[in-house]
Amino acid sequence: MKNKGTIGVTTQDIFPVIKKFLYSDHEIFLRELISNAVDATQKLKALAAKGDFKGEMGDMTIRISSDTEKHTITVSDRGVGMTAEEVDKYINQIAFSSAGEFLEKYKDQANNIIGHFGLGFYSSFMVAKKVEIITKSWQEGSQAVRWTCKGSPEYTMEDTEKEDRGTDIVLHLYSEHESYAQESKINELLYKYCSFLPVEIAFGKEKEWKDGKEIVLDKDRIINDVNPLWTKKPTDLKDEDYKSFYGKLYPMAEEPLFWIHLNVDYPFKLSGVLYFPKIKDKLEVTRNKIQLYCNQVFVTDNVEHIVPEFLTLLHGVIDSPDIPLNVSRSYLQSDPNVKKISSHITRKVADRLEEIFKNDRPALEEKWDNLKLFIEYGMLTEEKFYERATKFSLFKNIDGKYLSFDQYAQCIESNQKDKDNKLVYLYATNKEEQFAYISVAKEKGYDVLLLDSPLCAHFVNLLESKMKDVRFVRVDSDTPEKLIPKEDVSKPDMKEEEEKEMRDLFQDVLPKEATFTVSFENMGTQQLPVIITQGEWMRRYREMSALGGGMNFMGTMPESYNLVVNFEHPLVQKIRQTKDKDLVSQVCDLALLANNLLRGESLSTFIKRSVDLL
Ligand code: ADP
Ligand code: MG
Repeated sequence: MKNKGTIGVTTQDIFPVIKKFLYSDHEIFLRELISNAVDATQKLKALAAKGDFKGEMGDMTIRISSDTEKHTITVSDRGVGMTAEEVDKYINQIAFSSAGEFLEKYKDQANNIIGHFGLGFYSSFMVAKKVEIITKSWQEGSQAVRWTCKGSPEYTMEDTEKEDRGTDIVLHLYSEHESYAQESKINELLYKYCSFLPVEIAFGKEKEWKDGKEIVLDKDRIINDVNPLWTKKPTDLKDEDYKSFYGKLYPMAEEPLFWIHLNVDYPFKLSGVLYFPKIKDKLEVTRNKIQLYCNQVFVTDNVEHIVPEFLTLLHGVIDSPDIPLNVSRSYLQSDPNVKKISSHITRKVADRLEEIFKNDRPALEEKWDNLKLFIEYGMLTEEKFYERATKFSLFKNIDGKYLSFDQYAQCIESNQKDKDNKLVYLYATNKEEQFAYISVAKEKGYDVLLLDSPLCAHFVNLLESKMKDVRFVRVDSDTPEKLIPKEDVSKPDMKEEEEKEMRDLFQDVLPKEATFTVSFENMGTQQLPVIITQGEWMRRYREMSALGGGMNFMGTMPESYNLVVNFEHPLVQKIRQTKDKDLVSQVCDLALLANNLLRGESLSTFIKRSVDLL
């Protein structure tokens, strides 16, 4: 038999379309050919299991080879193979009614559509000027055939000799794509796409170092792990197995904190292992490390819109044949299966954390600092996760103690209610910088939380909006008495005129780069003469706008502070009588210094003045 024909594309020649639109991910051709080989192998195994195939299975390894002189790549399998009729049906008659129109519409998602429309095999024409299929069906007495096509709708098909059943696909590369035949390039692609395929893939031979020389052994080099961790039963696995698999996936990463083994059969199929990585303070760096597989074939490591955004911070593997991988991302977002899978994963993540909270609290506390950013982010972005997370989240106080939300509320309830019956959560964002304020709060018997994550402002805002009758107040946002106002404090006894005069006196010596609002308060003789505070709201919104999240005008406004003068302090009383400018400067500078606001010339003036006073 020898025949020529035209490939059955009804509307137009498919080849320019392939070349034009599928340019972005040329390299996936190898994945497509190898996954076809895997399919063919598994089909034969299924036939054997049913008893339809009674012959010898023999070695089922899929073999990849290349020739850098002839510029070819060959993928060989010992699967079902094809008869001439099957080649005609599955290869020649591309069921493609309006290829051009469709591809035009989805040109940005080339990678996603290839498999879906049976373009898998044809993706080889992105890199090959000529493709040959040499195939022999598993059925007894089959005639082997050779199909050849040079990237135009014409093909030839002829009888050929082939000893073994199965298929060889030979790509003759375009000169500009010759580099794909290089061993290193093929290794790279195999590593990326085929590391966990369920059938052994051999490329090259094993090598060994002996006496300072690399020698090639007579043993196939198998590039994949046919039973990756996520396909195994959790009960058969040890912590070490999870850790070493993580190391395989991310060779440079630090050890993960925890992991979850996903295993669902109904109503959708989903398996995988998700790891909680150590997240320091850079959300972006750790994002998008989850690898998505479809029946152990690598699809993408960009799982945006497939899992909730905060989960993109996790690492690991998700494998599901039920996620429609071959369609556009916008389609994915509205796919009901994807939604179900998403909420399932969110629930499993919450389950796991709750389980650790209940059964291994010390482990949770130990890892909390590295975990909390992930949890805060999840609470901020997923309503459902917020509800769950309030049950297992921890607060850490300034002394390094970890308490659950409920425990903490109980702990501060008796002492930290203000006069309006609101529970006040005092917090610091930096133990060193806010040291003085923390000490004052602790002297008053208050507990201070350490909220030092970059999401703090947003997180605190969220908690205030969700929890009833609570306020979050940073320790430096008001004078000690007013942090948790218990009753109205007495006003300084000063006439309006004098107050204005005094205010001007202080205002005069303050730095002009920021705005200061001067006020007077009775704080008792134990407190400092002057305290600088920064109102909770202004500061919080400034921080939120710096992180992004609306209200950007805040970022452009000058910093604003309150300068509170302790009317009862002897030095202030002295200033009332003497109006001594140096004394005013001195007490103000001390307060500025305590807040790291005294710099440059002002600082050296202060030092000189201090020496003079001594
Ligand atoms: P898909 O894999 O999505 O069906 P492809 O374009 O990748 O689409 O392949 C088209 C068809 O060609 C396959 O469904 C299969 O019937 C046949 N085929 C491709 N490669 C092989 C192979 N190595 N062995 C047997 N049949 C194959
Ligand atoms: Mg395919």
